[in-house]
Amino acid sequence: MQPQSAAYRGYEAYGYLEPGVDYVEFKLAEQIGRVPGYDGGLSAEQSERVAKILRENIAISLHEHAVVLPEDIGELRRYNRTGRQRTGYEGLARSGMTAVFDNFMAGASCVTSENGWKWSDMIYALGFRLADLAKQDYVFHALTVADIHAAKRDGRMALVAGLECATMIENELDRLDILYGFGLRQIGIAYSQANQLGSGLSEPGDAGLTNFGRRAVERMNKLGMAIDISHSGDRTSLDVIEHSKVPVFITHAGARAVWPTDRMKPDEVIRACAERGGVIGLEAAPHTTLSPAHREHSLESVMDHFVYCVDLVGIDHVTFGPDTMFGDHVGVHTTYAGNYAHDRERDATPDHPRVPYVDGLENPAENFTNIVGWLVTHDYSDDEIAKVIGGNTLRVLDHVW
Ligand SMILES: [Zn+2]
Repeated sequence: MQPQSAAYRGYEAYGYLEPGVDYVEFKLAEQIGRVPGYDGGLSAEQSERVAKILRENIAISLHEHAVVLPEDIGELRRYNRTGRQRTGYEGLARSGMTAVFDNFMAGASCVTSENGWKWSDMIYALGFRLADLAKQDYVFHALTVADIHAAKRDGRMALVAGLECATMIENELDRLDILYGFGLRQIGIAYSQANQLGSGLSEPGDAGLTNFGRRAVERMNKLGMAIDISHSGDRTSLDVIEHSKVPVFITHAGARAVWPTDRMKPDEVIRACAERGGVIGLEAAPHTTLSPAHREHSLESVMDHFVYCVDLVGIDHVTFGPDTMFGDHVGVHTTYAGNYAHDRERDATPDHPRVPYVDGLENPAENFTNIVGWLVTHDYSDDEIAKVIGGNTLRVLDHVW
């Protein structure tokens, strides 16, 4: 982890309200030190180089849920039903990141439902957290590439609002404009289940992007809203890449050639994405990016996907979207197992045993320190590291936003 950002002055989520009076209080997970720190085996000199690289370059996580979960994960459903997700300010201030793509609705649930992607739930998820953001001045809601550069200049954290899928627009194209108006700058096509736009990765068949989906992609292009195909089916993903006038993101996934689950992308999709100028962010949610060489999920297995993707499409098209949160992510998957509908990768077998957490990529506070540490110890140059921790994403955003 990095020294605490000077711009962070100790604000905690909903600090403008009275806990227990204005909202239901929960004992929250620790943002720092909840699990043992990762030992990447760096020398003092290498650690100093990591700190220097993070000081001098823009680091962007392409996919996180930068929120704090209750310490007792058994309280998760009750906590989520209040709608008040707590932004992890303290942890973000130690992350070394410049910008974070934060995905609201946290993948599964909110106030009015526990297993849908409802429009009303989006209002709660976005509204509560943006209100809280407005009450402090370390993390701010970023809307432009200039905002990300300003965050670097001022030592603040740019938070980009994103959604994992567009299911909540139902069949109404104009809701994309409304989401853009609310400050949303990145959106997925389908989650694991199919929707009006196209197919999700867990569906048995994939008929590709629907006619409505094509119009939605066109509207996203016109608005300047970045498109994510992480959870889309393969045919749908290829259709989106082809139909979009600008590059698209795979914000959080891995290579199916390294680990054969439907949550990973086949070479054909990764190549097509890169050929049109896009970028793939490597995923680290528990039990996703495993590898034959590293059957227990950790930074090392994630980096096996990184090396593979760089070999496949080049260093200009790869980055990181670790998809972490502050709290027990494995417990989140257990709590909402039925909602994800792409559970294959989470099946423990003797060959790839379940882990309590992903060593090295457990939370947004530690991810980039450990990623850059790995790159430094594996002889990547400063220029290469600058590209894969944020430069590649900035290039795409310059086209898209
Ligand atoms: Zn996701």
